[in-house]
Amino acid sequence: MQAHAERLDTAFAGARLKRFVPLAFTALKTAVPAPDVTYGHELVFVGRRGKHLLLDFGVATYVVHLMQGGRLKVDEKQSAKPRFGQARWVFEDGRALLLTEAGTERRAGVWVIDGDPEEQEPLDHLGPEADSLDLDGLAALLASHSVRIHGLLRDQRIIAGLGRRLANEVCHRAQISPFANASKLDRDEVKRVLESIRVCINEGLAYDRGRDDMSSSADRPGNVHHRIGDACPVCGDVIRSVEYNRYTVAYCPTCQTGGKVLADNTTSKFLK
Ligand SMILES: [Zn+2]
Repeated sequence: MQAHAERLDTAFAGARLKRFVPLAFTALKTAVPAPDVTYGHELVFVGRRGKHLLLDFGVATYVVHLMQGGRLKVDEKQSAKPRFGQARWVFEDGRALLLTEAGTERRAGVWVIDGDPEEQEPLDHLGPEADSLDLDGLAALLASHSVRIHGLLRDQRIIAGLGRRLANEVCHRAQISPFANASKLDRDEVKRVLESIRVCINEGLAYDRGRDDMSSSADRPGNVHHRIGDACPVCGDVIRSVEYNRYTVAYCPTCQTGGKVLADNTTSKFLK
């Protein structure tokens, strides 16, 4: 998503907004300020915070949450009823950006924010950016959360910007069980988690910067995510998984759990 923000910034910064068009009634999450305060203003920059894209027009900022199936892309056709269309930004130079969301969840959305977006919904509850953490900062976060490390890494309120794929990849690279209790990791393990976060983010960024559009998570580089049943590139063991409704924990038993195959024993599996 960082690479996508950079691409949009390069292509659209400086363009003046003509109008914002919600295409689905659930798309616009705020009433005040009205989008028209940004009309006629230049897009100052496109940024990213957590899993959100920020379109900053100076007088107000559009915060766009893509969720899982969402995309924000150049709208070549500008058809009246675009497939999966949620919202559209039309610029004075004739170009447009389109927010789409595949699937039926309808969880993508747009917030128009007056003032500092960091201090308001939906960004105000986000934890620090994963790539901004130092060893002491990460150690403090982990020590204060007695939860599974995989769940913690996915929780945007604790650490922003990782998500399901990188939670899997970070645990694998750090050689830590995804079910390990975050608060019980020793200093060396925390160090490995930090190093793995940096390497995994940089690998993904390098890959995405080489592309024209947002990649799907299956295409991105990785050792375990979307590689279930494959041989672990580190040790050759078979990558295994624990399946949940909304995500899959993927891991290598030899690298991460001393060879133990994980079973979910919280019984919440069937309730989620
Ligand atoms: Zn392995």
